[in-house]
Amino acid sequence: MQTADVLVIGGGITGSSTALGLVLKGAGNVVLLDEQLKSQRLSRGNFGLTWFMCKGAGYPGYSLWCRKAAKAWPEFANRLETESKYNIELDWTGGAVHAFGQDELDGFAQSIKTIREGCESKGIDYPVDILDRQQFADLMPKMTLGEDVAGAMFTKEQGHVNPLKLLGAVRNWFQKLGGVYHGAQGAKEIIPQSNGTVLVKTTTETYECKKLVIAAGHGSARLTAALGEKLNIYPQRGQLMVTARCERKLDFPLLSVRQTQDGTYMIGLSTENTALDARVTAEAMKSQAANAVRIFPELANLNWVRAWGAIRVMTPDGGPIYSKIPGHDNISVLALHSGVSLAPLHTEVIAPWILGETTDNQVSDFSNGRFNA
Ligand SMILES: Cc1cc2nc3c(=O)[nH]c(=O)nc-3n(C[C@H](O)[C@H](O)[C@H](O)COP(=O)(O)OP(=O)(O)OC[C@H]3O[C@@H](n4cnc5c(N)ncnc54)[C@H](O)[C@@H]3O)c2cc1C
Repeated sequence: MQTADVLVIGGGITGSSTALGLVLKGAGNVVLLDEQLKSQRLSRGNFGLTWFMCKGAGYPGYSLWCRKAAKAWPEFANRLETESKYNIELDWTGGAVHAFGQDELDGFAQSIKTIREGCESKGIDYPVDILDRQQFADLMPKMTLGEDVAGAMFTKEQGHVNPLKLLGAVRNWFQKLGGVYHGAQGAKEIIPQSNGTVLVKTTTETYECKKLVIAAGHGSARLTAALGEKLNIYPQRGQLMVTARCERKLDFPLLSVRQTQDGTYMIGLSTENTALDARVTAEAMKSQAANAVRIFPELANLNWVRAWGAIRVMTPDGGPIYSKIPGHDNISVLALHSGVSLAPLHTEVIAPWILGETTDNQVSDFSNGRFNA
């Protein structure tokens, strides 16, 4: 029998960034397990935005949470790169969402006004501007906008990273601090004990732990169901495509097009409610390529070299789930979209919350139980 002070199931970006926070808080022997499910390689298949803008329209609490995460990102990245020695390829150069036509731009202005009022009422700024076509074009002097682009919403205070390097850096720092990572071990069964500990049977071991964190993406629902808790998540496929490398001209990411530090353009914005099917489709490739070319016509000249699909973990209101399993206060479940953007909060706020040292009262707003009311 192995023992752990805290066992974390799921080594994607959510489990890894939380496990890092646990060792930083001195939680003792922290063990992180990942089963490496091919259908659930979400943390390796995402777009890499560190983004708050337009998240949580109609859900002020989520807007606020995303804004807090963006404010924490530069310092988080700085510490992460210093400690891990990884270059996570963060460009903190801003971010934009294009508008096709004036009506769409006017809609952005209205939506931003509402979100800003919500954030400012809680004492947090919301630095997003609405740019007309010329102002937007002036920010990208090397790119030419398509004729349908009327303008954009823009903020200087977000950016993008290389998500693979981010994941590697987080796990590296976690292990340097004494955390233990097993990259090919699946949790099979969770058995709460009457003495307050939890037994976890994995593919190769049995662990006894004082606290358990379930952060297994789509794998979490099966684990919580066995504890009597229905997890309110559903799968949503997104597909991404990548062009050949070329001269770097786009200095900041758009929601649907970004240029990486090695010069490739990543393109994607599709959302499909599918089962756990990560295949790509010609239909989505065509429609998102057409969208990208409508924003930047010159992209039509590039070769498209790779594509993949990944399955988002979505909740009914789009916000994250941070919850203790009813009757088992020592078992937490984390299930969410935007795990890259929210990573600093998982290290700095969610890890202390797991240990019973809450630093932000907002966490309790994100329980799984909010969907059961
Ligand atoms: C197309 C697309 C684009 C995206 N773009 C962005 C973006 O730009 N910015 C952003 O912030 N977010 C983005 N996301 C969302 C982001 O990728 C996810 O929020 C994040 O990866 C979730 O990480 P996770 O660790 O919760 O889940 P996962 O990455 O799925 O990790 C869960 C892990 O648990 C493991 N596991 C499952 N069951 C078990 C078990 N029983 N035992 C052990 N291990 C188990 C799995 O193998 C998996 O590795 C995007 C998602 C998609 C699909």
